[in-house]
Amino acid sequence: MARVVVIGGGYGGITVAGGLDDIAEVILVEQKDQFVHHAAALRAAVDPVWSQTIFMPYNRLLRNGQVIHAPAMGIEGNKVYVAGHDPIEADYIVLATGSTYPYPAKHMVSTAKVAQARLTQTRENLKHAKSVLLVGVGTVGIEFAGELSSVYPDLEIIMVEKEERILPTHDYTDELRKVIHAQLEERGIKIVAGSPLAYNPPVDMGALSRFQVETRNGEKIEADMWFQCYGAQTASGYLAHEFSDLMRPNGQISVDKYMRVQGHNNVYAVGDITDVKESKRADAARAHARVVVANIRDEIEGRSPSTTYSAGKEWVILPLGPDGGASQLVEPNGDIRIVGPDETAQIKGTDLMVSMIRSQLRLP
Ligand SMILES: Cc1cc2nc3c(=O)[nH]c(=O)nc-3n(C[C@H](O)[C@H](O)[C@H](O)COP(=O)(O)OP(=O)(O)OC[C@H]3O[C@@H](n4cnc5c(N)ncnc54)[C@H](O)[C@@H]3O)c2cc1C
Repeated sequence: MARVVVIGGGYGGITVAGGLDDIAEVILVEQKDQFVHHAAALRAAVDPVWSQTIFMPYNRLLRNGQVIHAPAMGIEGNKVYVAGHDPIEADYIVLATGSTYPYPAKHMVSTAKVAQARLTQTRENLKHAKSVLLVGVGTVGIEFAGELSSVYPDLEIIMVEKEERILPTHDYTDELRKVIHAQLEERGIKIVAGSPLAYNPPVDMGALSRFQVETRNGEKIEADMWFQCYGAQTASGYLAHEFSDLMRPNGQISVDKYMRVQGHNNVYAVGDITDVKESKRADAARAHARVVVANIRDEIEGRSPSTTYSAGKEWVILPLGPDGGASQLVEPNGDIRIVGPDETAQIKGTDLMVSMIRSQLRLP
């Protein structure tokens, strides 16, 4: 039986691992002890129930294969080096180690209990804070502002954006920006745009300690807590040796249309680690993964890879808490449509896509 080693058990990795479990010996290498549902991570910072919900066990994902909880340290030819284990030989390797992001959008620690303890402390601090500064008014900053304002309506929320407009990256429409901007203002959220912070606050993110900072334009801001809402970093450092020639300056790995790493026929990559030109989304990671599942199946059954991936138009679902927000959707004919709070709540805001992920992990 062919052996497939999948490195990284995020959205892309679990889709590949689960999709090949019946046809290959799958080994999923994941450093964390539980799956973390990042798309719901910001609600976990304000709601104790959600800080349990976003962590889900891997133990039912694979019926035949196994999950090794340890960090991958490198790859050499067809061998995968994993901390504390003998090198693992693979027929196919799938890179799915995604990206990191400042807390609370993603967690650096590998133990769910430790991550939950930090979330508990954050909620405790938020109860005592009068004002919070969010640095960055992209998708993460906006979603976090929505969660904070839904649970703490009296909290003063100040957002700083270095560009002139909110949602500055990607092909989002001005209509979406306008609708979101209006809803943020309705919630009393103050947006300071057009100049970055001159320096970071002199306290840790999420700590409760009053500070003053200023933007490069000289606007002074005081708050009791702050969070950095930008700064995704590709998690590909362990590939620096084997794939240095294929790594972009931002750490992303070049893939061809079959989602194969350029020049390495038995290595595929999915999700945030790839250099596919589109916004980095769980949904895209899962779409890449379905392509890789089809192509590795082809190869195992003696055919050439036949399924390709191409990025579509940009879309985004932006809830502001459980019942606010707006989304940019792409119709089947390619038209872009902006929808408001009701549809946004239906698509993501209410359930934050938990049931879909639980069913993928084969959890009740
Ligand atoms: C707050 C927030 C909200 C979001 N909301 C949405 C949304 O609504 N819809 C959407 O489509 N996208 C959303 N995204 C984006 C989405 O979370 C990412 O695009 C997605 O996580 C990428 O999936 P991935 O499988 O590539 O990697 P990741 O989810 O980053 O998973 C990578 C996994 O690899 C593991 N790993 C890393 N390095 C190693 C190593 N060396 N060895 C072993 N394991 C390793 C990590 O522990 C992790 O579990 C959101 C992101 C954030 C931060």
